[in-house]
Amino acid sequence: MTATRWFPESMPVPAVTADTLGWWEAAAEHRLVVQACSGCGRTRHPPSPMCPACRGRSSSWKEVPGTGSIYTFTVVHQAFLPDLAERVPYVVAVVDLDEGGGARLVTNIVDAAPAEVVIGGRVGVVWEDMGPELAVPRARLLAGNG
Ligand code: ZN
Repeated sequence: MTATRWFPESMPVPAVTADTLGWWEAAAEHRLVVQACSGCGRTRHPPSPMCPACRGRSSSWKEVPGTGSIYTFTVVHQAFLPDLAERVPYVVAVVDLDEGGGARLVTNIVDAAPAEVVIGGRVGVVWEDMGPELAVPRARLLAGNG
């Protein structure tokens, strides 16, 4: 089995904090989760220490299917790292996650030309393994768009 890579080895790795550790642990297992408040049930992403609705500090991880709809997106033409020069243009999108209760994921749309990406387009998460314990969710357009 070969790992699928869309971005170069030299990409900076995310900084993991106490608040995000559980999220990255799930990601390493290729499970997409959102944070769910133990007090009021509201879901949120990215992970944060306090519920914005009830200020509760207790939460759990809710697994979501990894599908969603593009809420908005932008096309990056500038290579912010030298190794990205041959990867531009690429798409950064905000995805409304199915069963996410309004939680949205900022990700990249991969395996599609920017012109194929539309607001409302359906996507599914694909995982990019960037290290032995680091996987990053990207998204691929699903059939039936447009
Ligand atoms: Zn709450």
